[in-house]
Amino acid sequence: LIQIYQPLNFLGFVYREIKQSLTDMEKMFEVIRTGADIEDAPDAKPLAVNGGTVTFENVFFHYSPDRPILKDISFTVPAGKTTAVVGASGAGKSTLSRILFRFYDVAGGRILIDGQDIRGLTQKSLRRAIGVVPQDTVLFNDTIGYNIRYGRPDATEEQVEEAARLAQVHRFIAELPEGYETSVGERGLKLSGGEKQRIAIARTILKNPPILLLDEATSALDSHTERDIQAALDHVSHGRTTIVIAHRLSTVVGADEILVLDKGDIIERGTHDALMAKGGRYHDMWQKQQEATEAREKLVALADSG
Ligand code: ATP
Repeated sequence: LIQIYQPLNFLGFVYREIKQSLTDMEKMFEVIRTGADIEDAPDAKPLAVNGGTVTFENVFFHYSPDRPILKDISFTVPAGKTTAVVGASGAGKSTLSRILFRFYDVAGGRILIDGQDIRGLTQKSLRRAIGVVPQDTVLFNDTIGYNIRYGRPDATEEQVEEAARLAQVHRFIAELPEGYETSVGERGLKLSGGEKQRIAIARTILKNPPILLLDEATSALDSHTERDIQAALDHVSHGRTTIVIAHRLSTVVGADEILVLDKGDIIERGTHDALMAKGGRYHDMWQKQQEATEAREKLVALADSG
């Protein structure tokens, strides 16, 4: 039992991390609802997308001046490529996505999309170009079809269904007695986190944005659901500039670049193989997560045998 205690302790830590980031995402959407105090510049121009290269150039950021959150962050996600951001809770991962979406302005440096400083763009055009798949999707109290079509209100039924297929959620929907007409949300059918996330992915596939921000789900999913979600995410990110806020290291293996964030600094960067070979922080995080997974499997085996 002692052998599995340590990893269990780590699982507790992971759980607390998840709760915190859920709260943060809620906060993020609170900002959407209430409207941030960022205003368009008088001469703001619409974003002209040309592939969707995202560049952070010596970015500094704080929520309050006495507490720097991001310190001189520079990286580029080339058009169509995927960058994953990993790091402990509070490292500043979600902050990166909030300032790219321009909920806040940077304190120093610049964020560019295809060479255009996002402070000179209309927020409407900026946000239209970025699809967000949050880890905890809030669905409208309406039908599943409505919730998917929200990504593109003029989409045909065939297009909605095709998006659901790519998001690995069509079969689930088709088996419901009322199919796409099933009511969901607070007053409707309760869906699991994995189902809700796949509906959010279908919505994003319909929206067809050049840039994607994925805040990966962290809740313990069964391996089948995890595979489905991974397949859906692979579909949605294919050919789009993608930034993944990653909690599960198993899903960052294929990223073109992984950034390891620690207290607002990038302390390591590279591909999975390069970072594993380096034997630093990423390697340690990987080892710890493996131990946690093994502990979970042992627990499941124990429960099955008992
Ligand atoms: P997690 O993995 O838990 O989601 P994270 O790496 O995404 O963490 P951020 O959400 O970016 O971390 O937060 C970075 C730091 O900024 C944290 O210390 C957090 O407490 C702080 N912070 C986040 N949002 C705000 C806010 N609205 N006002 C003040 N401080 C904030």
